[in-house]
Amino acid sequence: MYVFEIWSSSQSFCHGAFYNKRTQNALYCLAHMISIELSPKNPFHLFFASREGRHNLAVTNFEELAGSSEAAQDLLRTTMVMHLIAPDFPHVIETNFELADKSLIDRLYHHYGQKNPRIFASRNQIDLDYGREDKPNVHADYVNAHSGGLDSTYRATKLVAAGKSVLAVHLKNLNPKGTSLESRASKAQAEAWGIPHKELQFINGSRNYGSNMMRTRDLLVATATALVGLKAGAKEVQIEGDFVRDKAEAQFSEYEGTWDMFSILIKKLGLNIEVKGIDAGDIETIGELIKLEKVLDKPILDLVQNCFSAPFQLPGIRRKWEKAAPGIATASSEHWCGSCLKCRRMTLGRLYYHDPKFDRVPTSEVKFFVDDTYRWMKLYPEWRGMISDSFMIHLGNLTDQWGI
Ligand SMILES: [Zn+2]
Repeated sequence: MYVFEIWSSSQSFCHGAFYNKRTQNALYCLAHMISIELSPKNPFHLFFASREGRHNLAVTNFEELAGSSEAAQDLLRTTMVMHLIAPDFPHVIETNFELADKSLIDRLYHHYGQKNPRIFASRNQIDLDYGREDKPNVHADYVNAHSGGLDSTYRATKLVAAGKSVLAVHLKNLNPKGTSLESRASKAQAEAWGIPHKELQFINGSRNYGSNMMRTRDLLVATATALVGLKAGAKEVQIEGDFVRDKAEAQFSEYEGTWDMFSILIKKLGLNIEVKGIDAGDIETIGELIKLEKVLDKPILDLVQNCFSAPFQLPGIRRKWEKAAPGIATASSEHWCGSCLKCRRMTLGRLYYHDPKFDRVPTSEVKFFVDDTYRWMKLYPEWRGMISDSFMIHLGNLTDQWGI
């Protein structure tokens, strides 16, 4: 039905197109078509070529996923395809493997006002290798998508404190920054709290940056984590909540309606697991973790890793605090630079909710912290969009609380 021709017209940006043979109308511009291939050596290594080069998305230690249900593996491949195409919304997608659950891809396009893509099977289809089921070496009722930051720490320790069995799954290199630090921190956390830990290692060349990453990231996070959890017998996967109700305000993977639809899809595919988004506060979460530290009698806050500063910058930035507020610097963890939003959040929460480690911090240092934070917000207005109401309210109340 379709023929392929090279356009000679110099007026067009198309270098080639699929034509309808009967009408001779161009159906798809090649600029809007991609061919996604699955590596014959790794059933979770997808890639496509564009003018900018080759774009890979892979789980390199894919043996961790072998033997889990075929429907679950297909679903992960679908969410990986979505993460690869989300930056461009190509009109035509060709794959060399059978792509299940195309409805999920249609919903993604629909969310952004795009027409459903045409998805074709290429001529060189490869046989999917689902691997052999090996005996699970870990058992847990809950599986936590565990980045090693504040929110995933909160979810995991809350489950531990409630006496539940939980497996922490870290997706290494899925986020562009601080990945080896996060990986090390998430392992150290699991060890300290006595819970099992698994890591999926990603190669991520998907070109999802900034808030646009949230078009598809959390669907991929939930599905990859669920797959590891299913092998351990988990019935619930916990991810970051705070889903957005208003469709117009939400990226696809943070939209509440997406998760309602995703839950139905998971049931339809026969996967015996539920995805639950756990809402965490901002500064309040630090207060909760101070309480959980007392309940568990295990370190929590000192193990949290989500500083925005690069490791090579951290000692230099921290030096300012060691000089001007040595009590705060000494009481803070090795992961703390003091000056980025995440580290200021940590200091604010530990001071406000009376972390015993901060008992000896003098009022003069608290005043320095508050004044410096107001100054920092004025100097760097680009951070304002990321500063929560909770942060501002707690910062204001800290002044009253400490009489400064
Ligand atoms: Zn920091």
